[in-house]
Amino acid sequence: MWGRRKHARRSVASVQELCDLCGRTFPPEEAVCGHVADSSAVLPDDPLHDGLRRVTACCETHLEMVRAAYRQRPFVQEELWAGKIGRVLTSGRPVLTMTELACRTGLDEPDIRRAIAWHNERRRRLDG
Ligand SMILES: [Zn+2]
Repeated sequence: MWGRRKHARRSVASVQELCDLCGRTFPPEEAVCGHVADSSAVLPDDPLHDGLRRVTACCETHLEMVRAAYRQRPFVQEELWAGKIGRVLTSGRPVLTMTELACRTGLDEPDIRRAIAWHNERRRRLDG
């Protein structure tokens, strides 16, 4: 018998937003939101907004402070590319060739090599 699957109901009242600066929680309608450039921001299902992170704050002042903090953070192109590669490698069907990886990430082969080198270098630094 179909049509019996119950829709998952989300209690709207329990969904709270969290300030990225002070950690205070508040109802969504009080949230002050914006986007910042962040090369580590790669969402699993939103390739169009790679490199953009949505930030939420409790007030304009905190949003501006969050923005200022992200302006201090260098935007590393290789980090963004590595994120795109990671998303392709961990979702969908397996990638078998460099050409396929280039096609599915939208990157050129030299970019992919730079991203992999950046990723390995960072891992070495974190390990050692
Ligand atoms: Zn706050």
